[in-house]
Amino acid sequence: MTANEKVPLLDLVTPHRELEDELVAVFRSSLRTAGFIGGSMVGNFEREFARFCDAGFCVGVGSGTDALRFALMAVGIGPGESVVTVPHTFIATTEAISQAGATPEFVDIDERTCTIDPAKLQDFLENHCDLDPKTKQPISRRTKRAVTAIVPVHLYGQCADMDSIFELAQRYRLAVVEDACQAHGAEYFSKKEKCWKRAGSMGHAAAFSFYPGKNLGACGEAGAVTTNDLKIAEKIRMLRDHGQSKKYYHDMEGYNGRLDAIQAGILGTKLKYLGEWNEKRRTIATTYHEMLEVLGDQIHLPEEPAWGKSVYHLFVIRTEKRDDLQQYLKDAGIGTGIHYPIPLHVQRAYRLLTYQQGDFPVSERIASEILSLPMYPQLGFDEQKYVAEKIEKFFSANPGAKLPSGLLAAQSD
Ligand SMILES: *Cc1c(COP(=O)(O)O)cnc(C)c1O
Repeated sequence: MTANEKVPLLDLVTPHRELEDELVAVFRSSLRTAGFIGGSMVGNFEREFARFCDAGFCVGVGSGTDALRFALMAVGIGPGESVVTVPHTFIATTEAISQAGATPEFVDIDERTCTIDPAKLQDFLENHCDLDPKTKQPISRRTKRAVTAIVPVHLYGQCADMDSIFELAQRYRLAVVEDACQAHGAEYFSKKEKCWKRAGSMGHAAAFSFYPGKNLGACGEAGAVTTNDLKIAEKIRMLRDHGQSKKYYHDMEGYNGRLDAIQAGILGTKLKYLGEWNEKRRTIATTYHEMLEVLGDQIHLPEEPAWGKSVYHLFVIRTEKRDDLQQYLKDAGIGTGIHYPIPLHVQRAYRLLTYQQGDFPVSERIASEILSLPMYPQLGFDEQKYVAEKIEKFFSANPGAKLPSGLLAAQSD
């Protein structure tokens, strides 16, 4: 937050002020027992977070990136394999794939949900892979590697279309690791199972980040893996702690990837408020919709498919005049963000993957149109009204900023 900012993109000061006494008490109890690593604060938080996610197990780790890497390794992903994900995500998703020894392989997103497009995933598996006659595993024609897993990213707080993903995953024997780093508490209605499911309870494993700005944030770095599979949970417990099955008995090499006790205590304290905070985010999203509806097709507001309950980690609008609008709002003291401006397949870090501009047109177009508006549970009605008024003012001074037709295709289900 800068000094002249009237409405920041994110306010991390107020919630910590509100909980200061509780949070300081966590720190004090940790100091007085010198319980910094492991212990009951970690175990308690893991139990509570598993329950929150409707998952069987939770293993606390050092960050969301650790969580993704350990989850992939624990489900058996390793060198020589290809793992499918989207180019429209934070780089940690693909870093974890590479660090597990595999190669990222991209499939474009659905522009309505900004998550992986199941039709394109199907096209990739059917038309861009050959089945290994022996193992029946799809082999990517690009990488010549066996495709062994999918990492759907529940971006902006919205679940990916998991029924369709699981159908393909089963057909092609792929592991599914949810990147739930932006989706603590998000829900998905499974038509197959006829019930709502929580992010983190669906895949073979799921990764959460507790980076301070996430819906549930630590006062530092932290993350967790959830899973319903005891074996996967046990493997991750070893991976995070130097491969130890017990102290100084190393069954394999692992990492230093544990969750700090102080962070676990802080997360446990904040977890009690997460449901309420997520509800506030949803209310704020509804209010944005009501306030910005008048702009018609000049901007595109986030869509919530019937099968999803988003927890609005971010509220992302789209307009062709994104850069001008962002500058206009900045001049009016309104903080915004772009999540993310450059798709991963055209990042320098991935030039060795030899993808090209044009390979993933939806991700590429969206990257130039998206703008994240202020979104946090403590955002007040008047502040929100100020944001909406400034956006309306921008468009009345810059009319005709319509999105290309076809972009607003009605949601079919
Ligand atoms: C934040 C985030 C991560 C990484 O989490 P860290 O805790 O920062 O390591 C991974 N994937 C997505 C989609 C994220 O938003």
